[in-house]
Amino acid sequence: MRPRTSGPDSGDRARALAADVDVLVVGAGITGIYQLYRAREAGFSAVLLEAGGGVGGTWYWNRYPGARFDSESYTYGYLFSRDLFDEWEWQEHFAEQPETERYLNHVVDRFDLRRDMRFGATVTAAVYDEASARWTVDVADGRVFRGRFLVAATGVLSVPFFPDVPGRDDFAGESYHTGLWPATPVDFAGKRVAVVGTGSSGVQLIPAIAGEVASLTVYQRTANWCTPLNNAPITPDEQAQLRANFGAMCEVLNTSPAGFLHPPHDRSTFDDSADERSAFFEKMWQSPGFSKLTSNYLDLLFDPAANAEWCAFLAGKIRDIVTDPATAEKLIPNGHRYGEHRPPFVTNYYETFNDRKVTLVDLQETPIRRVTETGIETSDGLREVDVIVWATGFDFGTGALRRMGIRGRGGRALEDEWADGPKTFLGVQASGFPNFFFPGGPHAAAGNNPRYNGDQVDFITGTLVYAREHGYDTIEVDPAAEEDWTSMIDRNAARAPSFGASSYYFGANVPGKPRKYLLNAAGRPKFFAMIAEVRASEYQAFRLSSSTESEVAPR
Ligand SMILES: Cc1cc2nc3c(=O)[nH]c(=O)nc-3n(C[C@H](O)[C@H](O)[C@H](O)COP(=O)(O)OP(=O)(O)OC[C@H]3O[C@@H](n4cnc5c(N)ncnc54)[C@H](O)[C@@H]3O)c2cc1C
Repeated sequence: MRPRTSGPDSGDRARALAADVDVLVVGAGITGIYQLYRAREAGFSAVLLEAGGGVGGTWYWNRYPGARFDSESYTYGYLFSRDLFDEWEWQEHFAEQPETERYLNHVVDRFDLRRDMRFGATVTAAVYDEASARWTVDVADGRVFRGRFLVAATGVLSVPFFPDVPGRDDFAGESYHTGLWPATPVDFAGKRVAVVGTGSSGVQLIPAIAGEVASLTVYQRTANWCTPLNNAPITPDEQAQLRANFGAMCEVLNTSPAGFLHPPHDRSTFDDSADERSAFFEKMWQSPGFSKLTSNYLDLLFDPAANAEWCAFLAGKIRDIVTDPATAEKLIPNGHRYGEHRPPFVTNYYETFNDRKVTLVDLQETPIRRVTETGIETSDGLREVDVIVWATGFDFGTGALRRMGIRGRGGRALEDEWADGPKTFLGVQASGFPNFFFPGGPHAAAGNNPRYNGDQVDFITGTLVYAREHGYDTIEVDPAAEEDWTSMIDRNAARAPSFGASSYYFGANVPGKPRKYLLNAAGRPKFFAMIAEVRASEYQAFRLSSSTESEVAPR
């Protein structure tokens, strides 16, 4: 079915209605693109609305130098089409942002999805009409869209966060946020640059620009446990292997707890002698990306003593690499364990601090007082700069959904319902908001994002198809099912591997945000078990009804 679009002769009200479809998708990141593809493939009419000017989501907005995958490129890309896999040759094991943006554009064109995408379309309100069981969606420029189902694939890391530093707007030089990077490259040559923040984005950017700048001052609030990404080009032999092993690779990626290829280790930390342990840690240090987390000792995230061994090894590496001992000590995290925060993966990050142009400012020792017209003033004085880069992260998990003006049954506001933290079922629906889904939002699993977001899109699409086949047009999760899932999330958040609530996983980076766990520590296995249960019980966790009936249909 193609969307019904109003023609030039329609009346005023109708003219404002840009399209009326089965499925409205919001967000043109890897999740929304897949949702559009799946909805269309299942025979639904669909339109996708995207605030940005193009395709890519994360890979459209984060164009800062050094932005790249921490997931292996071929494990991150779509797996639904063998032809697509075969025809796209990733250049590096961990692709840089431009390559990923090109890939996602290729997918959109390859499957002719662009015709149903609307860019520059920031959703400002989405209101559910109970009588018609449809959503009406307002876009900032005045366009109005309607849809039976609304799927917000609006991302967990899509709302850039700026710290509330006095005078931030007074700065007269150039200023940027890594998550809102301009399309035209920023010229750092010969400039005095400040980078605020040393999370996953900051630590990618810092070594990438250090060579160009006149001086680089890094403002660090929290040191992170960075380990080498160990990136490399993909050789022709490896390309051939990837193609030959596609089936086996899909099997692992579609079933593994974190959606990576890295096999789990079979030993715990203290099964090995001290010498064996350091040899194994060295092997981990040399290993690619997330394998340091997923293929490390089995008890790494569960036993604090085991975690401390790995951290001591990493601290030793930092001391070996960074020649100034005082700087090295500042770069060693002192307040959180490995895995408690999202571990960043780096290329020459610690080495950068051996460059005399680069200075580290520890904000725990000398906090920022304010930004002035000419630079950043800490308790230690003013440093004048030409450019400030805010690498200060995102309002994780709920940021985009809470800002979208979502109004469900009886006009209830999603942001009010979630004032104390999100309440969801499977991380895809919230009760009181019929026909509204949010894959890739809060309470999803953790790991290689497209794999578990893709699971959610598959589940949502299957649910829509089931409802259609059974004559239902209204799908709303039962409050009891939502309560069970949310309590499960909270219960698991209180124990390993979640550790303390000091990271953005708990909203800790945004002042005033409730400290609720925003992922699902039980991960994909729990999600798989629950969707199997939902299907076996013929969707008992949902209230399925038809808008032409006054009562919920008996099932
Ligand atoms: C720099 C960086 C590197 C990353 N690297 C990895 C990695 O290596 N591996 C990994 O698994 N994950 C990584 N991530 C996480 C990444 O966000 C996910 O992998 C993935 O891109 C999420 O896709 P998505 O489609 O769910 O959301 P997004 O890509 O965030 O897309 C959401 C889209 O929704 C749009 N949107 C939001 N609100 C509205 C609105 N109101 N109206 C209209 N449009 C709206 C946004 O503009 C955005 O384009 C990284 C994140 C960042 C920031």
